[in-house]
Amino acid sequence: MKELSIQYLEEAIEDSRPFAASGNVNMTLPNFDETMKDLLGVSIITTDLKCYSAGDHRQFIPMQSTSKVIGLMLALQDFGKERVFNAVGMEPMGDFFNSISQLESYDTSKPFNPMINAGAIAVSAMIKGQNPANRFERYLTFLKEITDNDDLAMSEDVYEAEKANGARNRALAYFMQSTGTLVTDVEEALDLYYRMNSVMMCCDDFARVGLFLARGGRSPRSDDRLIPPHHLRTVKAIMMTSGMYNSSGHYAVEAGFPCKSGVSGSIIGAIPGRMGIGVIGPAIDAKGNSTAGGALIKKLSQDLDLNMFGENGGLS
Ligand code: GLN
Repeated sequence: MKELSIQYLEEAIEDSRPFAASGNVNMTLPNFDETMKDLLGVSIITTDLKCYSAGDHRQFIPMQSTSKVIGLMLALQDFGKERVFNAVGMEPMGDFFNSISQLESYDTSKPFNPMINAGAIAVSAMIKGQNPANRFERYLTFLKEITDNDDLAMSEDVYEAEKANGARNRALAYFMQSTGTLVTDVEEALDLYYRMNSVMMCCDDFARVGLFLARGGRSPRSDDRLIPPHHLRTVKAIMMTSGMYNSSGHYAVEAGFPCKSGVSGSIIGAIPGRMGIGVIGPAIDAKGNSTAGGALIKKLSQDLDLNMFGENGGLS
């Protein structure tokens, strides 16, 4: 086992960076271009609040699908497990994250899980608030508190791009309206989903979200529990089985801790009782996961003994 240090992380980054070559940058995102392809950064924050960062960790990127973790926490808080999983399943899916066919061919009453687009749109519709602006405000306020970062904000450019490229998500949402899965205003649910995806964060912020999950849902400001442990268990289990889309099985085997990725190249990792991990690496594979970031996550797991299914249960 290696010792966690900034120097170790710098070496791990340089070992993993070449894997960016096999990925592609998602050019539908504003300011994402070839020059970003080799970026790779990481932050690790341990439960005793030591922070280790390396590589391009100061780069800000949109949350994209990592927002699905936050959405699920809020929906569980608002409606409880039974009602949330009445609207969305908890099973992993072998199709791509924006698959339409799964909505019709398996179970027409609900999408597979909250970590794919259809599931996350259905979950977004469950975040309470008096009006759409207030719902997003709640999301952002919660995110600011758990990352201890009041500067977090949504990028208007990313939000506009999400809307402009949203045909597929709109199709998913209207299909779910037709089957009665989505009973609230479809455009409002989509709008919140786009906004949630458009918040800009850097590695420290992603790591803070992981730390929140790893540290019993405690606010870094007040130390109060903001989300009860039974909901966190659910969120981490869903991340483990579905957080890396249709590569989740691979990551469960090779990394062995709950992760969530986004098509901006973001990854959140949570090692319960030990640390939160935030990674950015904009070159993604066909399934939507950062290639260099994924390689880094697997390397960290091996070198730092993070696999929850290992001899020590990832608790060494
Ligand atoms: N903007 C993307 C979408 O809705 C986010 C999904 C993702 O990160 N996989 O398709």
